[in-house]
Amino acid sequence: MSGEWRESAACLGGEVDFFDGNVRATEKARKVCAKCPVADDCLDDQIDYERGSSIVIRWGIFGGATPAERIEIEEARRELDSLEARRLPRVES
Ligand code: SF4
Repeated sequence: MSGEWRESAACLGGEVDFFDGNVRATEKARKVCAKCPVADDCLDDQIDYERGSSIVIRWGIFGGATPAERIEIEEARRELDSLEARRLPRVES
């Protein structure tokens, strides 16, 4: 991942473990992400980075989302893009 948004990340220099994976650590990480001003950028970059990857090589909390949640978001966005692509053009009256 890259991007200047990282400089504003709420997790910079923090002590919360975003990669532990247990329930308690996950909830602590989510709380930090919930207050993060760049959570959308973080989530978007991670989804782009992981696109098409198996869940077994995804880890960590990004943008407040677990690996499984990021897969769901990725799939939902793909479906939305597909629907948008199939939408008939608007006819102006
Ligand atoms: S959304 Fe969470 S993981 Fe991403 S930069 Fe912000 S605090 Fe860090």
